This record gives sequence, C-alpha cells and structure tokens, in this order.
Amino acid sequence: MTMLHSPTLHNLGSINLDHFYRVPHLVHPGETLASRSYHVGLGGKGANQSLAMALAGGQVCHWGRLGRQDAWARDRLARAGVDVSHVELVDEASGHAIIQVDDQGENAIILHPGANHGFSRRDRDDLCEAAQPGDWLLVQNECNGLAELLECARHKGLAVAFNPAPMSETVLEMPLQACRLLFVNRGEAAWLAGLPETSDAEILLEGLNKKLPQTATVLTLGSEGAWYQRDSDRQFQRALPVKAVDTTGAGDTFIGYFMAALQEKREIGDCLALAAHAAALGVQRPGAADSIPSRDEVTRQMD
Ligand code: ADP
Repeated sequence: MTMLHSPTLHNLGSINLDHFYRVPHLVHPGETLASRSYHVGLGGKGANQSLAMALAGGQVCHWGRLGRQDAWARDRLARAGVDVSHVELVDEASGHAIIQVDDQGENAIILHPGANHGFSRRDRDDLCEAAQPGDWLLVQNECNGLAELLECARHKGLAVAFNPAPMSETVLEMPLQACRLLFVNRGEAAWLAGLPETSDAEILLEGLNKKLPQTATVLTLGSEGAWYQRDSDRQFQRALPVKAVDTTGAGDTFIGYFMAALQEKREIGDCLALAAHAAALGVQRPGAADSIPSRDEVTRQMD
C-alpha cells in the first residue's frame, strides 16, 4: 500500500540565543559597565518562524545547528511542536546576539553567527533527500550555503519560500527564480527591485514582478499592512489598529502563521488575515519568540 504524503515544511534556519543586558548607557570604548539585569531568550529568524508555524498548528521540521551546551533551545522548539530531529548539537558556539538596551530604549547589538554558519554540503544533501517533491522549504538569510540549497531544492521539486532577511549583497547572487514565494518587508523589497525605499508599495510590487515574474510575493509594511502578489493578482491585508510595544519578530510571526494557513490549503486572503492577526497580537508584547501567540489566542481575537 502506498503511504499518502502530507506536505511538510522544512525550515533550514538560524537558532540564536539573545542575551539582553539592561545598561544605564551603551558601553563606551575602553569602559567596563555593570549591567542592571540580564535575560537570555530564544531568537534567530529561523527559530522564530518555526515556532510561529508550530504554534499556529502547522507541521514544521527545523534544520538547524546549535552548540551542545544550549540544548534547552532545541527543547523549547520541540515543546511547541516543532520536529527537531534535524537540529544538530555541535561542538561550536551557538549563534548568539549580545544586546545592550539603555534607559532611552536605544540598543547596540553584536551578532555572532556561530553554528548557524556551519552547514555543510552533506547537510543540504540530507535535507533534499529527506524532503518529498511538493514539500515546502523555508529559508531566511541567516545561514550559509543558501545558493546551493536553493539549487538543490529546485532539482528536487520543492516549493521554496524565501525571506531574504537580513538583506545582504549575497542575496542578489542567489538563484531567486527557484523561489515560489518571497516574503519581504519594504527595505528588502526596495533592495531586491533596485528602487528607493520610499517608493509606493505598487511600484515596489511592479519592480519585483518584473524581476521575478514566476515568484509570488508577500510584501509586509509594518503598521501599513501587507500585500500579496502573484502575476496580476494582488490582495491587500490591513494591519490591525493596535498599540505596539515591541515590533521585533513581527515579520517572523506573520510568516509562520501565513505558511501554516497555506499548509491547511486556506485561500490567500485567509492566510493574510490569520498572519496579520497573529502579528498584531505579537507586537503588543515584548520580545520576539516570547511574543508569538498561540492559535487559540489568534482565533479568539478573530471571532
Ligand atoms: P518585519 O518585522 O519583517 O520588518 P513588518 O514590520 O512589515 O515586518 O511587519 C510584519 C507584519 O506585522 C505587518 O504586515 C503587520 O501585519 C504586522 N505589524 C507590524 N507592525 C505592526 C503594528 N505596529 N501594528 C499592527 N500590526 C503590525
């Protein structure tokens, strides 16, 4: 008997530890400064998006690398329902950010990619072998070897969703035609389309369609909402009028919920609405991973 295969989403993405230090002012050159408080949280766009997708009820398998001493981060993903069987514990430093936040809310960040930049050709081959044609592959721009991964996904017939964040020169050299879906914010859209960031959303969408005519786009515009575009089909989703306290990770929550709704074979309009409601709940709370709401909370808000 042949087993029916339900499409899985494979997310090859960063897992970071975010170390927050509350300081009276950002440290000056040569200064040693005592911090008032310290907190470590789960972060990294990859981990946030997998967490959001799992909390939305989606089926997601995370492919990642984490320092052996930080297995708690893997456990946190697993408890939320993420398949972590391909999160490897390695003898390297985990990706991490050292974040100073001062009394004015200013911040300064050191980001060390660590294990997130240690993916090998073997890891990419393993993913392409494990995935079935028709499965989704989701990637962000915080891990190494993405150009090769996109090529291998194309050959395997995977549906690729790419969130080129944080944007860098290397993205322009990637085989972006391999992507079925692109998630970009205003800055990323402008960079990819070669247009000023101040351009109207319609101009940005036209520019992206000209550059990547085979690729659907979700353009998120913070409190100005989000657009979906595929060929001449465009749909707009307004952002919910809420009081934002911390918009870190809004895009990650939006992407995770959008992909979960897509996996449920919902209409694009429903995917956008679910994602916008989830992100609106998230921005009303501090933190990134810690602010991602559960599906129940989102559903209650939509009733
Ligand atoms: P990114 O975090 O990638 O820059 P955006 O800032 O565009 O992403 O936010 C993604 C989505 O989150 C938006 O399309 C919107 O639905 C929601 N969102 C972001 N900021 C707000 C806000 N201030 N109020 C309500 N919703 C917001």
